[in-house]
Amino acid sequence: MDMGHRADAPVRTGAPWRAVPGWSLWSLSARALAYVLLVDSGAVLAVVLSALGPVPARSWAVAAVLAGCAGAHLHFSRWIERIRRDHSHLPHVDLCSIWIFAGALVLPPLPAVLLVATIYLHRWWVVGRWDASRPPHRCLFTGSMMVLAALAANGVSAATGLRGHLMAGRPSGVLDLVGIIGAGAAQWGVNSLLVGIVIALTVKLRKIGEAVGSGADNLLEIGQLALGSFVALAVAWWPGFAAPMVVAAVALHRTVLIHQLELAARTDNKTGLLNAEAWHLQARLELQRTRARQTPSTLGLFMIDVDHFKDVNDRYGHQVGDSVLRAIADALSSSVRRGDSVGRFGGEEFAVLLPMVERTEALLIAERVRSQVLGLKIDDSAGGVVTGLGVSIGVAIWPEVDEDTVEGVLAAADSALYEAKRLGRDQVQVAGVVRRLRWVPAVRRGQVVD
Ligand code: GH3
Ligand code: MG
Ligand code: MG
Repeated sequence: MDMGHRADAPVRTGAPWRAVPGWSLWSLSARALAYVLLVDSGAVLAVVLSALGPVPARSWAVAAVLAGCAGAHLHFSRWIERIRRDHSHLPHVDLCSIWIFAGALVLPPLPAVLLVATIYLHRWWVVGRWDASRPPHRCLFTGSMMVLAALAANGVSAATGLRGHLMAGRPSGVLDLVGIIGAGAAQWGVNSLLVGIVIALTVKLRKIGEAVGSGADNLLEIGQLALGSFVALAVAWWPGFAAPMVVAAVALHRTVLIHQLELAARTDNKTGLLNAEAWHLQARLELQRTRARQTPSTLGLFMIDVDHFKDVNDRYGHQVGDSVLRAIADALSSSVRRGDSVGRFGGEEFAVLLPMVERTEALLIAERVRSQVLGLKIDDSAGGVVTGLGVSIGVAIWPEVDEDTVEGVLAAADSALYEAKRLGRDQVQVAGVVRRLRWVPAVRRGQVVD
């Protein structure tokens, strides 16, 4: 079977250790490798130390039930992972925290960490084994981070007396609620910190927020902890009460996948911007809204084309060309207003939709885009940087342009773009205004000169 060209090819044929020399682990920087090994060994040490305490027989029974529920959850959501793998750019979503947090709240340290280890081993066996992007060392590292996070929650649960109250079948109101929230904060905080550090060490962050995760990711994580606390209350009452949560977990898993697929269908893979179809849909809705407003309203539209982009590809190669496109996409997103929609029309062409914008403001924004792109410095992967990138921008403002459809307004912006190219590139032109704008110094004086 062809394993593809990736360094982390799955270990499906031949002896497993033959894949070890090719692991991406060895290509990490010294600092990142040291960090990964530190977390892995920290987790192993934590498991060994947690074996020192006594474990009541009932705790083993609860741990077995939680492991069984997690196993059923993984089993019944196999097809979800299969769909995700077919759309390989979709990030993996791990909903195991429900079971792990429940275990961290009610169990002594040893069964709590063994529960994490069992869940991650099973997860690797079911979904990671055949997945090139998840070699065993990466699964071990993810599991190790989770062991440490669960132990933090476990410590809070023990220290606040919550664990004792739960196992005695009498959680006692406000104080135990505080214990649950504290334990959840500990698990979430330790996990986010450990993940944030590894991302900061291994990935060139385009935005610092990428290390922290999006609001939706964090909400999902906290939602799992909330469900986990209910599982803990249920198993403390009687372990079998955890079983119905398997259905909830699979349903949540499926809902998350559908949301991810919807998002992927609207997104341009390369840049993360809206794709052409989603942008057009948005533009049609926005034009309808603008028309329907009681007070006279405007809608701005930019067509943007990178200047001499073919030369960038020819000189630096296609991959650097792609990095340039991503950097330009980021520059566009950060230059426009919140609520403006930026889309990639394919190739090196972008479009921006600006609801309720006056011509003067539209020109200011277009100029900000142009100068941001001009100021970009992008690594060329040979120790140098790509600089001096220009963009030509065509601006059309509805209803100043005599058009009634998105296609018509786009055509007007496209003609202005063509004019910007004809007049020498790296500049902004407005549809319907044939004079060249000497407006960079004029903008500095706070006015636009035609
Ligand atoms: P002009 O100033 O007239 O716009 O010149 P240009 O070189 O930018 O224009 P042209 O349309 O001739 O070239 C666009 C180039 O963009 C050609 C194509 O190879 C490249 N391109 C299109 N899509 C991608 C992509 O996704 N990645 C990379 N790296 N290059 C792309
Ligand atoms: Mg082009
Ligand atoms: Mg071009």
